[in-house]
Amino acid sequence: MSDLDPSPSPAPPDDDAALPVRMLSEFAYCPRLFHLMHVEGRWDDNAYTVEGRAVHRRVDQLDHVLPDPSSDTPPESAAADIDQAPAPPAAGDEPPQISRSVPLSSTALGLCAKLDLVSTADDQAVPVETKRGSVPDNPERSWEPQRVQLMAQGLLLREHGYRCDHGILYFAGSRTRVAVAFTAELEAATRRYLAQARQAATSATLPPPLDDSPRCRGCSLAGLCLPDETLALRAVGPDPACREVRRFYPARDDAQPLYVQQQGAVVGKSGERLVVRCHQQVLAEARLKKTVGIFDRSDVITLVVEPNAWTDYEEKILEEARKREVPPVVVVNKIDLETPSADFLRRVRSRSPRVLLCSSVDFEGRDRAVDQYKKFLIEVCPDDFLKPPPLVGDLLPEAGLAVLIVPIDLQAPKGRLILPQVQTIREALDFDASVMVVKEREYAHALANLKAMPNLVVCDSQVVLKMVADTPEGAPCTTFSILFARNKGDLVELARGAAVIETLKPGDRVLIAEACSHHAIEDDIGRVKIPRWVRQYVGGDLRIDVFSGRDYPENLKDYRLVIHCGGCMLTRREMLARIQKAREEKVPITNYGLSISFSQGVIRRTLSPFPAALDAFQREMGKIRKAGKGRPLPAA
Ligand code: SF4
Repeated sequence: MSDLDPSPSPAPPDDDAALPVRMLSEFAYCPRLFHLMHVEGRWDDNAYTVEGRAVHRRVDQLDHVLPDPSSDTPPESAAADIDQAPAPPAAGDEPPQISRSVPLSSTALGLCAKLDLVSTADDQAVPVETKRGSVPDNPERSWEPQRVQLMAQGLLLREHGYRCDHGILYFAGSRTRVAVAFTAELEAATRRYLAQARQAATSATLPPPLDDSPRCRGCSLAGLCLPDETLALRAVGPDPACREVRRFYPARDDAQPLYVQQQGAVVGKSGERLVVRCHQQVLAEARLKKTVGIFDRSDVITLVVEPNAWTDYEEKILEEARKREVPPVVVVNKIDLETPSADFLRRVRSRSPRVLLCSSVDFEGRDRAVDQYKKFLIEVCPDDFLKPPPLVGDLLPEAGLAVLIVPIDLQAPKGRLILPQVQTIREALDFDASVMVVKEREYAHALANLKAMPNLVVCDSQVVLKMVADTPEGAPCTTFSILFARNKGDLVELARGAAVIETLKPGDRVLIAEACSHHAIEDDIGRVKIPRWVRQYVGGDLRIDVFSGRDYPENLKDYRLVIHCGGCMLTRREMLARIQKAREEKVPITNYGLSISFSQGVIRRTLSPFPAALDAFQREMGKIRKAGKGRPLPAA
């Protein structure tokens, strides 16, 4: 987003909870953006959002309360800002009081906000909202979402007893103040947006993209939203005339698009690189090698071709698939336009036993083609697709009891459990076991009320120390992350990797690899907590890089250790490919849960339900100690 607040707002409100004003302005900016951010929880940064965050950092540092509108006493920490505050009053008047980062909410309005700055004089209040960039060159000298945001702040101030007939937008880039009058029209529009946003927060339908809107140009979610591509795809229908629609989306989905926007720029190929030049100057380079990374995360390759068109490219795809033992299905599309020749079909069938002929505009034959495609998929999908390795099923006897300890903290999504917790519950039920779910504080009490010891205790890694302390010796216990390390990857290899923390020295490089690009919050597990615990264990600083996304960085070899997330968003094949890649590069790999258990000295306890992994860990520790590289053994 170009002219909106730079960081994502909190989760959407419940029916009767207050909607943050920032979410309201995001809705006014674009309902699709609102849905992507607050219903689907997706977020991405761009230069504007990063810059905007810097602009807001200063005003967010202090919390202030407003003076009582009916009192004469000034607020304790008021401090005027000469640039942002409204113009001083006429000589002889009391100067206005300035309050920063003012939290306000109103049940009647269903709104809440943290106001950047509020200037008050008696019972008159003026909200001041800071924006990055320069003042817009339009008649209003502001954008509508900004005015709506300011008006909503004005409504909150009125609810708190102030008179409030205008607000000020302060554009940090041009150091310009723009007064915004709170007219009846602006108030009506703000209330309308508020009603619509509350409804949109509970809707599962993704709104359509804005059409040819300049807002998309500065929108940080454009790469997730794909506005032009989505609209182009929607325009394509059975009418052959529609086929002339420009294709904004990449022609091949095994490749990443490279956007070249500068006039006069030329793209050339140099070895394994694409080089973008303009007037002999190299503007950018992109490695072609990355495009084959998709094979590492595919269980089945579907290659879509046109009749009688078989080139080196198709050969190369099938060769890559063969090398990785990924089964291919070849779909020959557009047979309504051209009949595949016997030679062509012979050639294709010699490369893949599964070939499907179809036409995507043959709507009547679509079911037949889809059924055939599904049949192929079931034939070729890996066994563990149909029969995944257990999470907890084999650790629980029939009618056994699993106790799950689930912290409800800032990172917990509102109103629901996270995927690993839900999957564990479901699998225990599938295996005819019982499940008790408690928060860490209630765990000891719940345990004391049980007639028998649970067959398994599982906790979130962040509370592992407390779980181990409260769980009687002999009761098997572990963490969700370790359960997933086994279910998704290779627990033995990851347990071995955990022992390498023992050998880390201050200054060593460690890679934290996160498969999904969730928006990091304060005290984030991968960015803050694990680095802190591992550094504490090592007793000095480490050079820790965090890399989120579906691939590793190119320089994997530079790291002494990879600490991987639980991989709940990855397929098992993908996770195994990532472990294998680390193995090939001779870089030890472990995961979040194991590294936490290790650095907190409880790993032998949390590996106790998995004898093979515990054995691999102990052997690795034995080798390390024999080589004289270890510290004293962590206490169990
Ligand atoms: S790219 Fe455009 S349509 Fe998509 S979310 Fe952003 S502003 Fe909305």
